[in-house]
Parts: sequence; C-alpha cells; structure tokens
Amino acid sequence: MHSATLKEKVSLLSMALATEARRPLTFMEVCGTHTMAIARHGIKSLLPENVSIVSGPGCPVCVTSAGDIERAISLGDTPGVIVATFGDMIKVPGEERTLGSAANVKVIYSPLDALELARSTPDKQVVLLGIGFETTAPLMAAAILQAHREGLSNFTVLSMHKVVPPALQLLLSDPTSRLSGFILPGHVSAITGRIYYDFLKDSRVSSVVAGFEPLDIMESLYLLVKACMAGDSRPINNYPRIVREEGNPKAMGTMFQVFEPCDASWRGIGTIPASGLAIRSEYKDFDAVRRFDLAEREVPEPAGCLCGAILMGKALPDQCRHFGKTCTPSFPVGPCMVSTEGTCAAWFKYNL
Ligand code: SF4
Repeated sequence: MHSATLKEKVSLLSMALATEARRPLTFMEVCGTHTMAIARHGIKSLLPENVSIVSGPGCPVCVTSAGDIERAISLGDTPGVIVATFGDMIKVPGEERTLGSAANVKVIYSPLDALELARSTPDKQVVLLGIGFETTAPLMAAAILQAHREGLSNFTVLSMHKVVPPALQLLLSDPTSRLSGFILPGHVSAITGRIYYDFLKDSRVSSVVAGFEPLDIMESLYLLVKACMAGDSRPINNYPRIVREEGNPKAMGTMFQVFEPCDASWRGIGTIPASGLAIRSEYKDFDAVRRFDLAEREVPEPAGCLCGAILMGKALPDQCRHFGKTCTPSFPVGPCMVSTEGTCAAWFKYNL
C-alpha cells in the first residue's frame, strides 16, 4: 500500500486548506525561526490567494532597542569591561555604529562561556548581554544563579529580555488590525507550555503552536483556517512532541526566581508595559544596569527604515525604499536585515 510522501502530504494540506478558507485570512508568524522556515520552504507559494502570512515581533535581535544597543556599545568601550554576546548582535546598527566596533566585545555561544570568561579574567568586568524571549531568559537566569553561588564579583548581565504575551496583546488592541490568527512560537512554547496562551481564548483570533518542518507549518495553517472558520479562539498545540501543556515549570521557575516583569522598549514599536524582564533586587549585584549606572537611551530609528511596521505585520520589506538597494545583509540599515531571523533578511535571501 502506498504511503504518502512528505511532498504529497504537504500538497494535500495545501488543497484542503484552500477548500476550507472561505474568506480572506491573515496570519502572523510570531517567531523569527518561523519567519525563516516559512521563507526557506516556500510555504507562502502553497497558500490560496485569500490566505496570507505576515511577520511579527519575535526576532530577538530585531526588537532590541537602538537605545539598548547604544548602552551595550558604551560598555564595550569602557576600559576594564568585556561585553559577551551572541554573534547576531554585533552587526546590529545603533545610532551611528555597531556593537562590533566597540573595543572589547567577545562572541560567546552559551551563557556558560561568559561565566568561564569571568572566572579566567578576574581583573575584568564581564557583562553578558541578555537577549531573547522566554527561551533564553531561563539560561541567563541560571548563569546568574551560578555566579551567585560562586560569588563571582566580576560578572553581570544587561537584561534586554522580552516576553511574548504583552506584544500579542498590543497587536490585538489595534482596532485597525486585520489579523485572523497567530502561528505561536515553538521554542518559546517548549518553555512556557500551551496554557501560557490561554488569555487568547477571549480574543477574536485563533492561534496554534507550531513546529518548524514544512509539514508542521502546513498542518498548523490548516488547523488555523479551520479554527477561524469555526470562530474558535482556543489556542491549539500542534507541536506536542516538544511542547507540553504546562511547558517546563522548572525553567519558568528559574526565570522568575531571578527576573521580574518590567516595561521594555521594543525597537521601532516603543514601550510595551510589563513586556521585559528586569533582574530582581535579590540579585542586584549581577545587574549591569545597577553596576554601571546605565541610563535609558532614546535613539531615533534610521531614516526610512520600516522595521517597526514590519515587526507589527503592517508593512512588507519591499515597501521599504532601502530594501535590496541601500540595505542588504552585507550593509544593513535596520535590524530586520541583520538578524538571521529577520524578515528583511529572509526576503532578501529567498527572493520573496
Ligand atoms: S530593508 Fe533595511 S531599512 Fe528597510 S525595513 Fe528592512 S532593515 Fe529596515
């Protein structure tokens, strides 16, 4: 008996989805990894004309404010300080320059590398940049707890972490939004669980936690279409091989042991209440903001850059006058072209 190939399954889902979608539907992929997966697998070409996908504010590098990048640059230029960061961050433009141009910046692959750097350079202050959502925040929290246990006095974290729900709420509060549903992030949800999104039950949109393979995404889109047609706003878990209902309570516990909610500035979007994670006062010795008395910085976005609108699903990269001309991955103007998960980078790489 013939069992369907992957291509045949995707094709069947594409046809089923087209049959179900009886009105125009716009979905948002919230997470940058989905942005890249959707582009790489050509998912948009498999959708009927009345179903579209836009990107959302889930690329960690893209939503890090230019003011926060300026604070990181100033730390990198401070004598006796080493800034430890994941590689994506060093090319993101601040006001006039990138973090990579600062004097003392070291690319690391894990928060543990930053701890080791602090142990091996006791005469330097090591500042780890805390970037990312609920996926990476528990790792940063664990690094702070380890530094606390060891009494490491030359290790701090500049927390620029963000959490997903307030951004979704902001999107839903926009009366002009035409969003019909969210493709919820797979990695974040592995930590938070599906129940984290139960607040969406009372919203006007449908939502589904999705994996990253073509079949995962097509199945999730099919489920989204069905839920929209049925007016069902209960968040669906279509990634149960990785995501549990309750997520990873230990990781969430570690995260909230060290961090507490705070208002946070999102690049191109502005301040979203309770959308950031600040280091609790119990761990203030590991907070770079307090150690170095870092002030908030307001930095204007590059002229003409539409990253803010793109991150809110209100513009597409080719609507930006810089796209592919004065802004390319080699010479990026805005963060959405820098990050490997950025929408502009995806459009450029996959010729969308
Ligand atoms: S193409 Fe460049 S300048 Fe335009 S929105 Fe994207 S990142 Fe910003």
